[in-house]
Amino acid sequence: MRQHLVIDADDTLWENNIYFEHAVHAFTTWLNHSRLTAAEVRAVLDEAERLMGYGAANFTKSLEATYRRLAEKEVVEHDLKQVRHFGEQILAHPLQLLDGVQETLDYLAARHELILLTKGDLEEQKLKVERSGVEQLFRHMMIVHEKDVHTYQHIVTESQLDPQATWMIGNSPRSDINPALAAGLNAVYIPHPHTWHFEHEEVVPVRKGRLLQLASFGELRSYF
Ligand SMILES: [Mg+2]
Repeated sequence: MRQHLVIDADDTLWENNIYFEHAVHAFTTWLNHSRLTAAEVRAVLDEAERLMGYGAANFTKSLEATYRRLAEKEVVEHDLKQVRHFGEQILAHPLQLLDGVQETLDYLAARHELILLTKGDLEEQKLKVERSGVEQLFRHMMIVHEKDVHTYQHIVTESQLDPQATWMIGNSPRSDINPALAAGLNAVYIPHPHTWHFEHEEVVPVRKGRLLQLASFGELRSYF
């Protein structure tokens, strides 16, 4: 039977968070703070990110704000430039589909209706989708500010989906799995080892929908 497959993008179709982790590591190492541990520096950065907003462009601003707060010497343009460079590297990175994604999307698109659902900065996400080369396999694409239970309820109504024949597929328990299940959809959880720590959450036991957990995107071919 034809299903509606709503698919997350970052860290489900392509690598994303690992580039942020590399940038944080490079920044923390370079900062080499005399009193704060890497985890403490990270906590200051997290706070800046919550204020500044998410996405690579905002991340660069958050790095700069963190540096201004933690610098143990006079803040000069030369060092600020270096700090911004750590963030700018994220956008410079070529987009890399995860293993098996291209073949699996080709396979799924021929059998089911695919909808891309990603959250974040509108322009940045659009650009990533374009660079991915898989855009044409989706019936449509949605870029949202937040993925919560209301987002999923809205998608069901707006796209006139049958919740029982709709699956949310993604790597984030907090944004993809739990709210989709709470909205009465089914879900496929595909953990990624470098999931952003803001997205960590326990997967809640299923009440209505069905829940599958797979080790890789390619395994979808065995179920759909
Ligand atoms: Mg994701």
